[in-house]
Amino acid sequence: MFGSPRARSLAALALLFLAASALASPCWAILPPLQVGAAVIDITPPEPYRMSGYFYERLSTGTHDPLYARALVLQQGELTTVLIVCDLIGVSRELTTEARSQIAHKLSIDEQHIVIAATHSHTGPLYGGVLLDWWKAKQAAAAEQVKPELDYPKFLVEKLVQVASDAAQKLETTTIEYATGHETSISFNRRFVMQDGSVRFNPGKLNPQIVRVAGPIDPDVGVVLFKTGDKVAASLVNFALHLDTVGGTEFSADYPKYLHDAIAAKLGNQCTSIFGLGCCGDINHIDVSHNRPQKGQEEAARIGAQLASAVTKGLEKTETRMGAQLAASMRVVEVPVQVYSEEQLAKAKSQLALVGTKELGFLEQVEATKIVDLAARYQGKPLPVRLNCIALSRDVAIVCLPGEVFTELGLAIKEKSPFKQTLVLELCNDAPAYIPTKKAFVEGSYEVVNSRVASGGGELLVESAVEMLLSLHQAAGAR
Ligand SMILES: [Zn+2]
Repeated sequence: MFGSPRARSLAALALLFLAASALASPCWAILPPLQVGAAVIDITPPEPYRMSGYFYERLSTGTHDPLYARALVLQQGELTTVLIVCDLIGVSRELTTEARSQIAHKLSIDEQHIVIAATHSHTGPLYGGVLLDWWKAKQAAAAEQVKPELDYPKFLVEKLVQVASDAAQKLETTTIEYATGHETSISFNRRFVMQDGSVRFNPGKLNPQIVRVAGPIDPDVGVVLFKTGDKVAASLVNFALHLDTVGGTEFSADYPKYLHDAIAAKLGNQCTSIFGLGCCGDINHIDVSHNRPQKGQEEAARIGAQLASAVTKGLEKTETRMGAQLAASMRVVEVPVQVYSEEQLAKAKSQLALVGTKELGFLEQVEATKIVDLAARYQGKPLPVRLNCIALSRDVAIVCLPGEVFTELGLAIKEKSPFKQTLVLELCNDAPAYIPTKKAFVEGSYEVVNSRVASGGGELLVESAVEMLLSLHQAAGAR
């Protein structure tokens, strides 16, 4: 192989260089290759079920397209991470705690690095929360006999364990490629400064009172491809755009369905396409500069196709493959919650009967539901927020946050991250409603009324996530 004297001396030089590098960095252990496994499972309720998304009761009448849970298992040496994204409005702390515990047991892995997230589909089942409890109690009081319905949380946990296990059984050596697409035509900050100086969310199309938009969007379309040989086994796409584009009473995964279809057409059916929702607490698809209707499957298809085209364009400039170095960390941050008096709680409880009617203003309905939820779930105690960071190499990392996080907070994490590309996913492991910025707490409007954390909670999460990213990056550099 090294036939000529010149080749031999080059080889000797290379060996010398390797030896010197090894001396300079004693932790030069050769890592086993990164393995990937991915799988998908149907999580559509098998019978009519209450639907999530709005402040009134609605029962499903069918399935437009099935809801799925999509799992990505990564393994290198002793470390295994699991990311499962569900076509659901959110996943609660109780549910994910149970699912993580069962998955960890089934796969004999550490539960710390298991993340269960939601896409925030408004056309999925409503299976928990204050309003469901209230509507069920009302139904029980009104009817002599209530038909037992599917225990959806139990059904879902079984499916999550199954899909994690299916993905783990498919582990294969992988290389990763990453890219960032750019998309500015489908997402809009939905908060506006109005002529009277107030800030309003969704003030309506062509509203002459609008002065200017109150915040930014995040145009990044983060893409990571996991390749096994010359095929793509899995793709992860991250974009900040709220999902309520479909409406109606049929189950649907909303616009990610069309993104997944386009990715399958481009990368092949063997590719498990996963969509991780970016920080979009104040972002939606409504363009107030025209008055065309923007609801239904056609709209979801338009948005999904546009997002897919941004992915395709991004992939034209894929960064070169790198040696994968999987690293992960998890931290629980105690975030203070809002506090209300006993009188306010009593009033809110009495107002629950008016939720879903026209007898109480929309924001009052939202606030009453929030106050009852705060009392039921937190009792004034800080919210234990789980933050997960997964580094795939010295270049790419994934941050997982709970709740519907304002886009400025996601942007702040990306800006301060030492990684070349940082994907920030929201609605991971818990769904404590909105996580606004301090600025938004001063401005008010819907997202602030429908938040549980106290002002400053979002910035606290950014600070912690950045610390975690810095230490993961440093650790990767030491290897
Ligand atoms: Zn929503």
